[in-house]
This record gives sequence, structure tokens and C-alpha cells, in this order.
Amino acid sequence: MDIKLNYINGEWVPAISGKTRDIINPANEEVIAKTAEGGTDDVSLAIAAAKEAFYGKGEWRRKNVQERSDIILKIADAMEARREELAITDTLDNGKPLREAYGDIDDAIHCFRYYAGMIKAPYGGAYDVNDGFGQMHSYTVHEPVGVCGMITPWNYPLLMAVWKIAPALSAGNSIVFKPSSTTPLSAVILFEILDQVGIPKGTVNLVMGSGGTVGQEIAESMDVDMVTFTGSTEVGQEIARAAVGNLKKVGLELGGKSPNIIFADADFEGAVEWAMIGIFFNQGEVCSAGSRIIIEESLKDKFVARLAERANAMTLGNGMFDPDMGPLVSKDHMEKVLNYIETAKAEGAHCVCGGYRYTEGDCAKGYFVRPTIFDNCTQDTTIVKEEVFGPVVTIQTFKTEEEAITLANDTIYGLAGAVFTTDGARALRVVKEIRAGITWINCYNPTFNEAPWGGYKMSGYGRELGIHGLEEYQEIKQININLTPGKLGWYEER
Ligand code: NAP
Ligand code: MG
Repeated sequence: MDIKLNYINGEWVPAISGKTRDIINPANEEVIAKTAEGGTDDVSLAIAAAKEAFYGKGEWRRKNVQERSDIILKIADAMEARREELAITDTLDNGKPLREAYGDIDDAIHCFRYYAGMIKAPYGGAYDVNDGFGQMHSYTVHEPVGVCGMITPWNYPLLMAVWKIAPALSAGNSIVFKPSSTTPLSAVILFEILDQVGIPKGTVNLVMGSGGTVGQEIAESMDVDMVTFTGSTEVGQEIARAAVGNLKKVGLELGGKSPNIIFADADFEGAVEWAMIGIFFNQGEVCSAGSRIIIEESLKDKFVARLAERANAMTLGNGMFDPDMGPLVSKDHMEKVLNYIETAKAEGAHCVCGGYRYTEGDCAKGYFVRPTIFDNCTQDTTIVKEEVFGPVVTIQTFKTEEEAITLANDTIYGLAGAVFTTDGARALRVVKEIRAGITWINCYNPTFNEAPWGGYKMSGYGRELGIHGLEEYQEIKQININLTPGKLGWYEER
């Protein structure tokens, strides 16, 4: 089996240590690839290359915007040409159903095209100012931040990379990218594409390896101007601490425990369908998952019965055959999810369906967990407080709108939330009270390249996507022009 290499300063290179890592298909435990296992010495080379590309030659940031935009569009075209390979790779690596992987790849392609256009839009402010120094004109320009370090999780391997790489590269930055060591393979394909479209040497670098070494070094380095991270809240805190040394910019997209509030007047089948998508899409390994269903008491029994019926009917299997749900991403992660399930049972929550590892037929060797619903949960139930990041949903009830809002917001997280009701005014009232960055009314989980994505509270700071997602990778400079040179205004008169 050939080894997938790191990409540093325009070259494909093994780790300096020579170490490699086995990459596992979670559907059957087969080794599907070997990757270079980078260390701090490899990252240092990548950071030096990115720094030289940005501050030395500066070719990429100085390119006229049309040329840069054309190259970004070429990336999207090349991804489209390798669409099937990219989708299959994410399915084999992560486990997700193939149709969902295709969805990720298409979103990623659009993301590059979106920012290729955006960087040509008129942008920045112009101000007429007169502060006593004479008549001045002031305007702003947006400039790239410099060397951007990027660290991503395993749940959307390609898409989480592209949400960062597309805007950062479009803005003219240099990049040092570290994918999750569990799912690095689609990033290798993306970098093969980046290698071929004419981006100057050293501008984009890929270093695979563990978070504790490669990731930590990126976050700590005095030569990295910004670190952008998607992953758990605990590691996000580590990143923020590590970034203090040179006060680098930090972007954090972290975990969630998002409320899905359902009123008794909601369209019943619609609410069931979206609740299913909210918690079981992508095996529940979604940061914005609707993992806490908060439902009006009078509807609860009927709703839970229907949800359980739907959950019990779900097919599990190898993602390549497009089941309803694939395996969890790794053995460690499956064990973590099963532990949470056991804790919930021990705490007295009622397991309505699922709640165990599934090993029937072809699933014998994979990391499959049946879709799981826990009723009778309270604010003290561990899985109501902590992110499970798997196909596990809790049910809690409310009698009044105020009670629903209080339950929804009683969490350290603030990533997402939804409300289901046919009362329009109530929908708007409730959604406005949810302390979260992404909210939905009568749907769950749709996301667009055009709209900003990010969290309140311990779900992080900064925004990805939309115009804000470009601004994350830019500094703003003001340029002031004296229109009456030779006059010193009040200073002269003093
Ligand atoms: P994770 O354990 O926090 O890891 C994320 C990334 O950080 C991986 O690349 C990991 O490397 C690296 N890392 C680990 N320790 C590090 C350290 N000390 N310094 C620097 N980097 C380090 O998260 P995960 O388990 O991959 O993903 C699940 C989490 O991501 C969930 O909490 C989920 O909510 C969150 N998430 C959030 C969003 C969002 O948009 N808000 C989107 C997707 C996922 P290794 O792979 O080598 O461990
Ligand atoms: Mg894997």
C-alpha cells in the first residue's frame, strides 16, 4: 500500500520521522490507506514555507483579483471532475452514506465558486472626515491576515476543510492545514488539486498527524498569524490558550447541545421528519444536531411513539450501499457513545429504542449504533448536558412557552436550535430568545454557503461562510488622505 504524503512547499514528502498511520474504514475495520504521520519538525517546515510565500515573494496575495478568482474557479472545476472519487473517499474514511458524501462534495465545490465571485465584489468603506486637521478622505481596504493555520474534525472531512480553505485562499492568505487524523484522505485529493491549478509554491501546505503534536504546534507557533479550528469545546479551549503567545487571531467552531422545541400545534409529520434529520443525519455526528427534543407535554407520547417507529425502521450498513445510517467514525468514538448510553440508563432515563451496538450480518465488524431515543430526561441527565455526537436524542417536556425557552437556553453551548409551530408570531418570538448562532423555524439543519455559521457561548467565536466567513481571513486597514496638504488645522493655530 503506497503512503499518502504530506504536501509542504510544493512537494509531496514523507514525515521526517518516517512514521505512518493506518487509516481505517469504520464499516468493516479494514485498513484503506496509510498516511505520513507528521510531527512538529514537519509543521515547522510547512509554517516556514507558508511564511516565505506570504511575506517573502508575496505572489499569491499580490495577484490581481481576477487571476486569483480564476484559479479558485479551477479548483472547483477539478473537484467536480473528481466528484465521485471525493465522495467515495469520505464515505470509506468516515462511514457516512454515499448520498450524504455527495452532498458534502457539492457544497464544497459551490463554496469555492461562491468565494471566487465574492472577492471581486465592491468592498470596504469610504468616509469624508474633518476632525480639525483639515479636510481628509478616509477609506478602508481588506487585506489577508497572513499565515493561517487550520485544524478540522472528522465528521465532514472535506467540507470542514473547504469552509476554511476557500475563503482564506480567496482572500490571499498562506495556509498550513491539518485534517483530523481519523479522516485525512479527501484532504489529500484536495491538495493534489491545489498542486495542479497554479497556486505559487509554499502558499498551501498539508501536514497530517495528531492533534497533540501537529495541531498544538500550529496553535502555538509565533509565525502563524491566525488559527482557525473546528472541533470539540475542550480542544478549542486548548487552542485559545496556545494562541496567546503571539496573540494570533483565533476562530473557533465548537460543539453543541442544540434544542429542538416542538409545540403541540406543529405540523405533526413534518416535525417528525425534521426531528429525524436533526438527530440521525450523518449518524448524529453533527455539531448542530438537534440532540435535545423539548416538546409540549400534550403531544409528547404521540410524538415519541412515531419517532421511535421511524427510528426502528432505519437501516444501518456500509455507507457505500446507501443505508439510512452508516457506522460511527471510529472504535473509540463508538465506545464513547455507548458509554453515554449506559450512563443515561443508569441515571434513570427511559430508553425508548436503540441503545446498543448493532452487529447483524455485514455490520459485525463495523462501529454501528442503533438510533437511540431517551425519554424522561431532566436537566441533570448527563446526556442532556454533554455532547454525545452520535445518534442519541433526549426528550423533555414543557407546558408554557417560557418554560420551553428556559430549558432550551440552560446549556453551556449556543450553536443551534429550532422551533416547530404553526403560530408565526410565536415562532419568531421563540427563535429570537434562543441564545444560539444558527436557528431554524419548521425545519432542521439546512445550511447555505451564503449565510454565516457559528456559535454563541461555549460553541465558539467567529463565523464561517457568507461574507463574514471571508472577513475572518482578512484584516481591515484604514487609509487616510489629506486633501489640504500644507494646512495643519487646529494644530497650526495653537
Ligand atoms: P476534536 O477531538 O476536538 O478534534 C478536532 C481536531 O483537533 C482534530 O484535527 C484533532 O486532531 C485536533 N486536535 C486534537 N487535540 C488537539 C490539540 N491539543 N491541539 C490542536 N489540535 C488538536 O474533535 P473531533 O472529535 O474531531 O470532532 C468532533 C467535535 O467537533 C464535536 O465536538 C463537534 O461538535 C465539533 N464540530 C463543530 C463544528 C462547528 O461548526 N461548530 C463542526 C463539526 C464538528 P486528531 O484528529 O489527531 O485528534
Ligand atoms: Mg477512518
